Amino acid sequence: MPRSFTVGEEMLHVADDPQCPECLEEYPELCGCGGLIHAAGGEADLDGEEWPLTRCDRCGRSEEEMAESGL
Ligand SMILES: [Zn+2]
Ligand SMILES: [Zn+2]
Repeated sequence: MPRSFTVGEEMLHVADDPQCPECLEEYPELCGCGGLIHAAGGEADLDGEEWPLTRCDRCGRSEEEMAESGL
């Protein structure tokens, strides 16, 4: 059974699926924990640049959190 997984407001990501149909191009990416990092369309910041929302389907971290923790 595929397990659905929520990233941002998108609830149709598929955990453990490297071909997740809901992810942005080039995602999911491998996470250091062995899970997959899914990405959903994010909001543009003040400079008009869009940052995707990311979340690992195992550890639940975003790429931003991982960058901050230095892993
Ligand atoms: Zn996904
Ligand atoms: Zn992870």
